Amino acid sequence: MALFVQKFGGTSVGSLERIEAVAELVVKTRQQGHQVVVVLSAMSGETNRLIDMARQLDTRPNSRELDVLLTTGEQVSVALLAMAIIKRGHSAISLLADQVGIQTTNHFGKAHIERIDTKRLAQELEHNRIAIIAGFQGRDNEGNITTLGRGGTDTTAVELAAALKADECQIFTDVDGVYTTDPRIEPKAQRLACITCDEMLSLAGLGAKVLHLRSVEAAGRHKVPLRVLSSFSPDAGTLITYDDNSMLQRVVSGIAASRDEVQVTVIGSMPHVPNLELIEALCTENNIAIDMITQTQQHSEKIGYAFTVHSNDHLQVIEILQSNLGYIRAHHVESYMDVAKVSAVGLGMKSNCTVTGQFFSALAQEGIKTLMDASSEIKVSVLVEEKYLELAVRTLHATFFSESTE
Ligand code: ADP
Ligand code: ASP
Ligand code: MG
Repeated sequence: MALFVQKFGGTSVGSLERIEAVAELVVKTRQQGHQVVVVLSAMSGETNRLIDMARQLDTRPNSRELDVLLTTGEQVSVALLAMAIIKRGHSAISLLADQVGIQTTNHFGKAHIERIDTKRLAQELEHNRIAIIAGFQGRDNEGNITTLGRGGTDTTAVELAAALKADECQIFTDVDGVYTTDPRIEPKAQRLACITCDEMLSLAGLGAKVLHLRSVEAAGRHKVPLRVLSSFSPDAGTLITYDDNSMLQRVVSGIAASRDEVQVTVIGSMPHVPNLELIEALCTENNIAIDMITQTQQHSEKIGYAFTVHSNDHLQVIEILQSNLGYIRAHHVESYMDVAKVSAVGLGMKSNCTVTGQFFSALAQEGIKTLMDASSEIKVSVLVEEKYLELAVRTLHATFFSESTE
């Protein structure tokens, strides 16, 4: 008998028919003699609907209250699935994150899971009940409801799998695995039978939303056996692996793209160069990650830095920098939203220095201008005008994946 944590995303539970189909899948696993803990997202569209409602009331709704509102989506889906399983003659119970001891930091909207008290879940499993847990939510140490950020149900599932020492964490979604790029942008994308955790970490961090970034971080930390597969037609899917050396090292494993980027430029006037260390410290203090940092010299006497932030942090970062202009020695701050980040990721880049050249010349041949760039041992990223996102992804995919990858 194995213990599986099975997570189903929004599309997988997007209607009553889909919830019935998920109930069938879970019951099948149970009938095979396994224990199951299910983790669910809200029904598709529900979290967006709730956000829209809140924003109609206030363009920047109170973050604590927004979390209280958003967690209701998952409360609906877990209760419906429990009913569908009970109807099939199996014992099931829906539980909110607070009821299964998911303790988080107090950063509303982007809380981190700090620990999970598995006592209640262990009891449910002992009684042979299928536990159905609301994903994406937790509670801080003052008892407030928190959420983990969009897509955070993946992280709930992986953290629960780690805490319960599950045999496998299965992320059921609307595609049948991790592909060489988003198959909705490039239909020629190929499914990968496996991908290393480091590569998946880079892809997720660079916009491949098939897995929430922090779920991959948690999987890597606890070495959770993790698989991505389709809830519509489940088969082997894609396995996340932890042994980089045993893998056939593809030079490039995937192309990722993200629209959730904003380019921020902080400008000073000579001889006062803005102080990058202070800018970074202010952002860190406010839990805002910055990326692609580049020095800019717009005019001979004007000097500054450009960097990118997640679009969720846009208004906050501008507010913070503008109210600290003197402190960071800057003249003014500008931002540009119509940008996208496009990246290539692959462990094999470590030992192959032709990738960067191929990457830039492919984009240049299509006339795609790059605004900023950044690279590490296993990735190359560029910032482009948002209108070029699809073309850039397809161009890079054709450059690096002309042959089968399996
Ligand atoms: P869920 O609601 O199940 O959590 P998501 O929408 O968060 O599903 O993630 C699945 C989506 O991720 C797919 O529909 C696909 O468009 C997108 N995606 C982006 N990059 C990739 C990739 N490399 N491989 C597979 N899917 C990807
Ligand atoms: N319901 C949340 C969202 O839409 C969490 C998730 O689906 O993972 O982002
Ligand atoms: Mg998701």
